[in-house]
Amino acid sequence: MTMMVTNVLLVVVDSVFLNRESLMRVIRDASKEIEKIVICKNCGTELGYVPADIKTRRVSDYTGGVDTYNEIKCPKCRKLILV
Ligand SMILES: [Zn+2]
Repeated sequence: MTMMVTNVLLVVVDSVFLNRESLMRVIRDASKEIEKIVICKNCGTELGYVPADIKTRRVSDYTGGVDTYNEIKCPKCRKLILV
């Protein structure tokens, strides 16, 4: 008996949710501010960086193919770190 009551309640909640027009909106797109963490392999410092810190470097090899490297510069030892 208790089981049946619970089921009916769930169905009602579901249909209310589906029929309602979504009022969701984007307040702020923070995808460019998401901080990632990397450890510098040269000096062992743990660094937090955001996409804006990444520098893209393109290197063409002897075959003419171009490789793309995404790098950040370690603020402590100044070495480039691939991310
Ligand atoms: Zn470093």
